Amino acid sequence: MYSDLAGKVAVITGAATGIGKAIALRFGQEKMKVVVDYRSKQEHASEVVQAIKEAGGEAIAVQADVSKEEDMKRLIEAAHTSFGSLDVMVNNAGIQKEIPSHEMRLDDWNKVISVNLSGTFLGASQAIKYMLENDVKGCVINMSSVHEIIPWPHFVHYASSKGGIRMMTQTLALEYAPKGIRVNAIGPGAINTPINAEKFSDPGVKASVEKMIPMGYIAEPDEIASVAAWLASQEAKYVTGITLYADGGMTLYPSFQAGQG
Ligand code: NAD
Repeated sequence: MYSDLAGKVAVITGAATGIGKAIALRFGQEKMKVVVDYRSKQEHASEVVQAIKEAGGEAIAVQADVSKEEDMKRLIEAAHTSFGSLDVMVNNAGIQKEIPSHEMRLDDWNKVISVNLSGTFLGASQAIKYMLENDVKGCVINMSSVHEIIPWPHFVHYASSKGGIRMMTQTLALEYAPKGIRVNAIGPGAINTPINAEKFSDPGVKASVEKMIPMGYIAEPDEIASVAAWLASQEAKYVTGITLYADGGMTLYPSFQAGQG
């Protein structure tokens, strides 16, 4: 636990499920005030709000589509209206869909880019605007992926969105460091969440993914939430512009593990 986080206000996008939910629950344990954004799963979002309150934090659920500018403005206003500030913005919402690149239509491409890349931009830029106008030395955390540096056939839109998040994170970090606003990303490897549920329900596919992870296992969402809590805390007050990979070593060229090459 990080005592400086207690009472701080956070907005987390896509927080009704998976990694976003785990971050929301962890922030609740840190006694933070959390705006739980959801797109359509209102019931799930209400459960997250309830769990945060039971842990000693405060929370509200707000429906907002991260790819829409007006929704993002409303989301950030909700933090101000309900809790009086915005200290930590977590741009977590994301989607993926397998399509061979030569069969990918512009619509397919735009859908993923608008949520993953444009949604992250809207969240980051609107949060920073709020922090500048209200003299908050806050932080932004963008949910990237190991696929910001590992190419991913059949997921060119997804990998491109995460590669873009890496450069966006670095650029915003550089631009706003003089104002005391930190901007970082997290690069998860393979995590057990709804986005992967179908894939990991097949034991053969699951085993082949585990083989790509030097530490040998698929992580749970709370193993990413602990990284978000650290990045948000003052323990990381000199850290900006990085992607912190939490991937069990997936980005370490695992095929070289036994000394080949
Ligand atoms: P998830 O599907 O549980 O979470 C994604 C959430 O985003 C969902 O709650 C979904 O409703 C929400 N969302 C989708 N579109 C939205 C929109 N337009 N507006 C608002 N919310 C929207 O899966 P997850 O694994 O928890 O994914 C969270 C993030 O982590 C994503 O950005 C994903 O790319 C990233 N990530 C996940 C893994 C993994 O292995 N699970 C690995 C690397 C990165």
